Amino acid sequence: MDASVQTVPVLIIDDERDIRDGCERILSRMGCQVTKAPDGRQGLEALERELAEVVLLDLKMPGMDGLEVLKRIKQSWPQVLVIVITGFATVETAIEAMKLGAYDFIPKPFQPDQLRLTVNRAIERLRLSQEAERTLSDLHTEKSRLRTIISALPQGLMVTRTDGQVVLINPAFCQMLSLAPQTAPGQEVACYLPDPAACQMLRRVSAGEGGPEEEAPSLEFSAPGERHLLAQATRILGEDGQGLGAVLVLVDVSAFKVLDQLRSEFVAKVSHELRSPLSTILLQLTLLLGEGAAPQAEGQRHLLVRARERTQGLISFVRDLLDLSRLEAGAGRQGPREVRLEELLRVVLDSFSTQAETRGFQLVLDLPPEPLPTLVADPVGLESVFNNLVANALNYSDDGGRIEVKARVEDGKLKVEVSDQGFGIEEEKQALIFDKFYRVKNEKTRFVTGTGLGLPIVKSVVESLGGNISVRSKKGQGSTFTVVLPCAQA
Ligand code: ADP
Repeated sequence: MDASVQTVPVLIIDDERDIRDGCERILSRMGCQVTKAPDGRQGLEALERELAEVVLLDLKMPGMDGLEVLKRIKQSWPQVLVIVITGFATVETAIEAMKLGAYDFIPKPFQPDQLRLTVNRAIERLRLSQEAERTLSDLHTEKSRLRTIISALPQGLMVTRTDGQVVLINPAFCQMLSLAPQTAPGQEVACYLPDPAACQMLRRVSAGEGGPEEEAPSLEFSAPGERHLLAQATRILGEDGQGLGAVLVLVDVSAFKVLDQLRSEFVAKVSHELRSPLSTILLQLTLLLGEGAAPQAEGQRHLLVRARERTQGLISFVRDLLDLSRLEAGAGRQGPREVRLEELLRVVLDSFSTQAETRGFQLVLDLPPEPLPTLVADPVGLESVFNNLVANALNYSDDGGRIEVKARVEDGKLKVEVSDQGFGIEEEKQALIFDKFYRVKNEKTRFVTGTGLGLPIVKSVVESLGGNISVRSKKGQGSTFTVVLPCAQA
């Protein structure tokens, strides 16, 4: 027996007792819950008492006419499915009944199978419409649930179509950008986002530029009320992978920004305070070890040399920290100005010439025959970039190799390569060496002192100039660091 049939209440309204009883037997066996009424009035009363889902209705009855009963049923309970039972002589009436909203009809006399078939069809129809109703109400609940979640999100949310038109913004978004609380979507992104770079990023992602495998781009910008916001844009893809637009998530990072600044200021202060006494100690140790100083026993001299080396190491550590905190605080040590790269590179290489010579290195500067275009940069910052790269080339090589600094113009940009034939860097470590304090640890690097701050400083300076840095290296075969910088605008 069909489980859904079992629970369907059916009312039979017919003045012929045999028909009522016969139908009851068949339908009860099908599992329906059957009620019977001998005329229209009692039928309507029965419906009032207990609603049936299917009504079998004889059209030809004494008292209230079947069509009248049908009308009233449809008026009060439009969802009830009415199957009219009619003799051959009244087919026209049956058609009339269908017009009035009857669901089906069975001509009299009928076989049990005919009845079963018709009632089953009605039950199936009931089941389908109930399912559709459930889906619709589920959809409705789902939609309002989503709306509530989006409204309650602490992150700002903006959804755009592929043409950059905004289709959704949530309250947090309005609050972060000081927009009116009920600001309606519908305009272009620029009407909501005050930052041109953020607008551009969102338009690009909305239009589907950059494959889905590309990491979701993000940027920070300042918003009204001294807020710092982090915006990240992600493409929205349809089921078959086509771009539908983008979603922009805004996170308020103002508090982190303040903390970061405090940390940078603290580090800058501590480094600054440490630098002068350390320089004094270094000077005194150098004097003690100098020519005019009183001779020391070999053991003492060794201790003093070690102390001088460690002090030197500490000073360079403190210098790196200071550089880093200044960079993070956004303060260039000098303002940007026009820089001639050839000269700057020569000065850098000159400062390493004695060390290179002592250790048997060949230090080569490779410049193109024509002059290089000028750069606009803070010269001290730029010098620290190449100082760090050449120092690393020397530090991470065995004595006696070749170190080359080669500058060229490529695709309208300045490209400087610093290459060595030294220890090289394993492929999996190459992405990590630009992280603060990261140092490769192996047999070769064990004896090289360093802080792990040089390359992060280099990267930060290069990026602040609108350039980028990359590395090519093979363990045991040397490394090449490539710096690409934009030339000064004509
Ligand atoms: P530091 O030299 O103070 O350790 P860096 O940030 O300059 O810090 O470099 C990070 C790490 O990258 C180094 O510890 C070293 O392992 C590796 N590295 C940098 N430059 C080279 C190079 N030219 N050859 C081999 N390894 C290098």
